Amino acid sequence: MRKDFPLKDLNWFRTGGNAEFFSEPRTVEEALSDLAFAKKEGLDLNILGEGANTLVSDSGCKGLTLHPANKELSLKESPEGLVLEAGCGAAVQDAIDFSLERNALGLEEFAGLPGTIGGAAFINAHFFEFFLADFLLSATVISPDGSVKEVDKDWFEYGYDVSRLHREKWLVWSAKFLLKAGSDLEAAFAKGRAFEIIRQRSRRYPKERTCGSFFRNFLPEEAQGKVPSVAFYLDKVGVKGTLSKGQAIVSRKHANMLETKEGATSADVINLAREMQKLVYKNFGLVPVPECRFLGFTSFPLYTKDTIDG
Ligand SMILES: Cc1cc2nc3c(=O)[nH]c(=O)nc-3n(C[C@H](O)[C@H](O)[C@H](O)COP(=O)(O)OP(=O)(O)OC[C@H]3O[C@@H](n4cnc5c(N)ncnc54)[C@H](O)[C@@H]3O)c2cc1C
Repeated sequence: MRKDFPLKDLNWFRTGGNAEFFSEPRTVEEALSDLAFAKKEGLDLNILGEGANTLVSDSGCKGLTLHPANKELSLKESPEGLVLEAGCGAAVQDAIDFSLERNALGLEEFAGLPGTIGGAAFINAHFFEFFLADFLLSATVISPDGSVKEVDKDWFEYGYDVSRLHREKWLVWSAKFLLKAGSDLEAAFAKGRAFEIIRQRSRRYPKERTCGSFFRNFLPEEAQGKVPSVAFYLDKVGVKGTLSKGQAIVSRKHANMLETKEGATSADVINLAREMQKLVYKNFGLVPVPECRFLGFTSFPLYTKDTIDG
């Protein structure tokens, strides 16, 4: 357990302040002991994976921030296929490489996706038509009061960019995925596909100091028959590579991706995101909703439908 621990180098934007308390549990026992400490001290609980989808407040993060270090990967045969068990702290790419080396196929659709298994399970990570939930069988989850249980995929109540974990604070400790057992030839094709996806990603998306798509696409009921893609509207208002606030700028490669430069603050990112919301609202009457998660903020830092006119 460390106190006043800097989170700046633990998130992709490379901004934000310190965690009041910080721990990197490697085993369930260590995680339980951390949770017991938080309960005893009355501390809020925060969970941070690779920080590829998180903006940390400049004033830091009150309470205990867990950065789980359970990176174990294992593969077992089952009557339905191969079952990959991955620790929440394992990088998604490591889980993909581990699987492909053992001819276990499916997860290569997420090749190049930054972040951990825990972060991907939180948001139901997706790439084109593939969602992580398509492969998820079950997971071991831990509640803040220390109960450990095995849950199936339905427990997560997955939707687009949303899960039960958005409402309830559970630590996903590990997850099991059902993968297809492939031949050597099929595995070679899958590796080629993974390579190509990574190549495409690096051409289309910024490679650092970003959280990928900052806003999620509009749900059908929000879009009211209009185009659901938020990047479509951001492209139209012409922010790409030009709109900036302080040291945060909209990526030249993608209108829905924000990048930070050296010296940027999280306030720069917030100010830029708010300006983007205003522009889309002014021109199209829609208020973009963030996909990015906020850590350490005392209130929601962006506009909502109720506050944008104020
Ligand atoms: C360049 C770039 C491209 C991207 N492309 C995509 C894409 O194609 N598709 C896509 O879906 N996303 C994409 N993202 C976003 C990001 O990769 C995913 O959201 C990823 O799943 C984040 O994982 P993380 O470990 O970094 O999570 P973090 O950012 O650390 O955390 C995100 C959320 O998950 C929670 N969380 C993390 N670990 C756990 C855990 N063990 N238990 C419970 N909750 C947990 C955190 O509390 C937080 O609320 C992209 C990001 C970048 C930087």
